[in-house]
Amino acid sequence: MTRRLTLALPSKGRLREPSWALLEASGVAPQEPGERVLQAHCRNADIDLLFVRADDVPEYVQDSVVDCGITGLDLVAERDSSVEVLLRLGFGTCSLQAAVSMEDSATKLSDLEGRRIATSHPRIAAKVLAERGVSADLVQVAGSVEISPRLGLADAIIDLVSTGSTLRTNGLRSIGVLFESEAVLVGRTGSTDHEARRTLTTLLGSVINARANRYLLCNVAKDRLAEVTAVLPTKGSPTVMDLATPGIVAVHALVPAAEIWSLLPKLAACGATSILTLPVERMVP
Ligand code: AMP
Repeated sequence: MTRRLTLALPSKGRLREPSWALLEASGVAPQEPGERVLQAHCRNADIDLLFVRADDVPEYVQDSVVDCGITGLDLVAERDSSVEVLLRLGFGTCSLQAAVSMEDSATKLSDLEGRRIATSHPRIAAKVLAERGVSADLVQVAGSVEISPRLGLADAIIDLVSTGSTLRTNGLRSIGVLFESEAVLVGRTGSTDHEARRTLTTLLGSVINARANRYLLCNVAKDRLAEVTAVLPTKGSPTVMDLATPGIVAVHALVPAAEIWSLLPKLAACGATSILTLPVERMVP
């Protein structure tokens, strides 16, 4: 019998919805949790879910309270947790950046030498500043880091930034990136023999791979096939099939979603017609 897997999911905050969506897209069907439910079981997989704060996930995994969890890479680094990153999940992307007020003269990290910096990520901040030879006075705050300079609490901040709009709204300007983060699936270090964990990692990975690709179909005259295959940004070999109309073939290929924009005009220039792109649900290499 397969040992059941316990998976900690963020119960609120920005990682909650995309974590839930990823699980659903991967075909794992949990019973819909109500607002206050802390635990749920999956109907069709050997997985039990535990809903906790994203900040607590690294500790829960490290202490074997759960087998795996979804959290931010920044939180794993900040807690200095002894867990294994099994998969990068491609959402919750952000970076830990140093920022000063618009009027400040600082333009780079080394300009923060000897100054006061407010942050809710003191461990990563201290580590990166030390690596870059900058000695500064870190002030730990739990939230609303971006108002610290206006309150006179600090000269600068080190905080998570995704779009930069919060910095701009608060009259702040970035002067450097310290750490790049995204949501990750983490597991207990060394627990490689857990079959349900391997299956979950493969399943989630297949959805993440698929999201980055599109299935492309087009028709082209046989004598222009070489032109079409030459412009396809495809690693594997495309599928080529004869159509009922003599002299025309259908080309099917998997292409990176990010390249569709530049690819379509090239295909049209090669005489390709009936060009379709379809989302891919799952990709297992
Ligand atoms: P929460 O506080 O529960 O909303 O989750 C915070 C986590 O979301 C952080 O630890 C990051 O991993 C991730 N995240 C992504 N973008 C941002 C952002 N702009 N600000 C804060 N956290 C972000």
